Amino acid sequence: MTDWSSVVRGLACDILENAPMSDHTTFKIGGPVDALLLPHDSDTLATVIARLQEEAIPHRLIGCGSNLLIADEGLRGAVIRPDSRNAVIRRLDATALQVDAGYSLAKLSRCAQQYGLSGLEFACGIPGSVGGAVYMNAGAYGGEMVQVIRSAEILMPSGERIALSNDELALSYRRSALMETGGIVLSVTLDLTEGDPSAIHETMADLLAARREKQPLEFPSAGSFFKRPTGYFAGKLIDDCGLRGYRVGDAQVSEKHAGFVINRGSATCEQVKQLEQDVRRRVFEQFGVEMSPEVRLWGTDWYA
Ligand SMILES: Cc1cc2nc3c(=O)[nH]c(=O)nc-3n(C[C@H](O)[C@H](O)[C@H](O)COP(=O)(O)OP(=O)(O)OC[C@H]3O[C@@H](n4cnc5c(N)ncnc54)[C@H](O)[C@@H]3O)c2cc1C
Repeated sequence: MTDWSSVVRGLACDILENAPMSDHTTFKIGGPVDALLLPHDSDTLATVIARLQEEAIPHRLIGCGSNLLIADEGLRGAVIRPDSRNAVIRRLDATALQVDAGYSLAKLSRCAQQYGLSGLEFACGIPGSVGGAVYMNAGAYGGEMVQVIRSAEILMPSGERIALSNDELALSYRRSALMETGGIVLSVTLDLTEGDPSAIHETMADLLAARREKQPLEFPSAGSFFKRPTGYFAGKLIDDCGLRGYRVGDAQVSEKHAGFVINRGSATCEQVKQLEQDVRRRVFEQFGVEMSPEVRLWGTDWYA
């Protein structure tokens, strides 16, 4: 049995033992993790990770849990979540911002608007953290993180802190080099452009209205479940297979947007996985298109 209080002794880090991951993911799915650790700042985060490594305790990092599907049996070891309350934005010059990884992406988008800075309008409805958005190269409505990132401060698994440029982050469609290296984003520097705050506000209002109209925001989900296969739209392929509304238990292909899998109340990870397999098989049989999940699946038998 791990003595979690000794792992974080003397550190500004809260602990929630046996924490249900369903409380920490937007899908509202996932069994308990042995310990959820909430370091208050980047230095503490680095020390916590070093201690977990010394003790050979398995660990993973989450942001807002908005792109995760977690196993019903939960996770062994620790999940670390940077504390968003202490995350800040620093204005470096007229158009550059440096932001801590735990900061909310949607809130950052609103701050940029208030500063009269354009470039993050696309992000106003994405419910993740800045760190998760870099890791996933989050994007919507023609915008993507790759378009605004200058560099990021990264904590490597070795404990070394390095700065990676936009090129070195190798950002592409829902991918980054961090998926291979295991690097953790501590902060990111963004290059934006000067713009008219009311025009930026109007664009954001339009994008939020489009989301409300098209997406099933009234149900827990992890956003678009599948990546866009080259040359196709996942939602249209699923719809064309007659799978809009298809259900396994409380997991359902949204009737409003077939690219979303929603939790109608008490969906389990197993139900979502079954639904995912059924949808992939049907789309492959009908169109010969191989789909893969955008959502990261965490459990004992998979890791992403
Ligand atoms: C209603 C809804 C709408 C959505 N719309 C969009 C959309 O339009 N576009 C889009 O791209 N996504 C969308 N998403 C998915 C999700 O919000 C994004 O992928 C987001 O960037 C994930 O950020 P997060 O902080 O929640 O990451 P999490 O879900 O917590 O984690 C996702 C991955 O990022 C890693 N990670 C998190 N923080 C860090 C860090 N600091 N350093 C290194 N790795 C880290 C985790 O280890 C994990 O592998 C949507 C989700 C929902 C629920």
